[in-house]
Amino acid sequence: MYSKTKLFRERFSGKNSPTWNGGLAKLRTERSSIEYRDWRKAVFAKDFYKCQCCGAKSSHKSHVELHAHHIKNWADNEADRYSVDNGITLCDKCHYEFHSLFGKKNNDSL
Ligand SMILES: [Zn+2]
Ligand SMILES: [Zn+2]
Repeated sequence: MYSKTKLFRERFSGKNSPTWNGGLAKLRTERSSIEYRDWRKAVFAKDFYKCQCCGAKSSHKSHVELHAHHIKNWADNEADRYSVDNGITLCDKCHYEFHSLFGKKNNDSL
């Protein structure tokens, strides 16, 4: 399992490139693309629809909201945007926790 520490360390190593130019509008349209939806699905499948941080998974008893998170910054790693290896499945809680620690500005924003 992917530990929080490892995830957070990777975030630190790929942080805050000055090339970020705030192309949010562009980001948003790309996000809604079929390519993005397929990427998200592939990431979930790779991680067996399970949060790689705390292990949460949907069952018939409880629904877990899953998010596909970019390990390397979305804005600065164009080549890796749709690479399944650059995606990790997180539940909404872990994802929220991650971004509340690292913010969203220089991040993958989702
Ligand atoms: Zn989780
Ligand atoms: Zn994220």
